[in-house]
Amino acid sequence: MGLKIFLSFIFVIFCIGILIVYWFIPFGTIEFGSKSSNFDLDVNQSGNMQFYQNMRYSDSKISYKIYDCPLQKKNDMEEAFNIISDLSILNFYLVNSNEEISVTCDSKNKIEDGLFVAGEGGPVYITKVDKFHVILKGKVLLIKESNCENPNIALHELLHALGFDHSENPDNIMYYISKCKQTIGQDQIDLINKLYSTPSQPDLTLENVSAVMRGKYLDVNMSIRNDGLRDSMESKILIYADDELVKEIKLDALRIGYGRIISFSNLWIKQINVNKLDFFIDYSFPELEKNNNRISLEVD
Ligand SMILES: [Zn+2]
Repeated sequence: MGLKIFLSFIFVIFCIGILIVYWFIPFGTIEFGSKSSNFDLDVNQSGNMQFYQNMRYSDSKISYKIYDCPLQKKNDMEEAFNIISDLSILNFYLVNSNEEISVTCDSKNKIEDGLFVAGEGGPVYITKVDKFHVILKGKVLLIKESNCENPNIALHELLHALGFDHSENPDNIMYYISKCKQTIGQDQIDLINKLYSTPSQPDLTLENVSAVMRGKYLDVNMSIRNDGLRDSMESKILIYADDELVKEIKLDALRIGYGRIISFSNLWIKQINVNKLDFFIDYSFPELEKNNNRISLEVD
């Protein structure tokens, strides 16, 4: 009898040992592959009117500041802002610092970097996201006097700062030589309205997600990027194994065009078999695309 109890005890210990080995020692590797594909969007809206495809500022409300300009040029510039506001969905507003468009009239203020036309102005800091080249800062250098009824030179420079290149049409305001009869093309206004019809929102997107199960342990690599038009706020990444939440990762705010790489290993998973992993960005604010917030991986 004593022997039987002893053997049963040994057997139980053995079973527990086997279970411990099974649950905690990583053996047997399962690779997961992606079954979903990312979205694709038309990125060719701006033709050759702009320096790069789809250049715009973050928002249709764009801040500006005018530095050291004589009264006439300051008035011309303000009139140019008003004309573009009236013709398009854009609005411009004056700020004291951190402006998006800086206007200077002193030829000593040479623009050293960025995309600009010599002696004029243009976008200075640009970030490329999925669909747009987002202009973070633009400059206008107003040197020449305008003798026209309309502030044609200021309008020309403002359009450069909005990403527009020179036009080959001598009647267009973006022709490289200024004449009073030149006008803004309707195609230029249409393009502005089309580019700014996309709301100024962030767009968090999951990329390059890969996962491997080693026994009961999960290793994950992934990246998250803000492909939108505005900095994102804090969010969470949720990971589900066969519809059960296994990990929650806090994600800090991401600036436009910035990304994070997240990787971890040896996350213990209690389920016996995992067939599907879901990765989900839990972002409770408006976004350009919600359908790039989730990726499912299945056993290869
Ligand atoms: Zn020019």
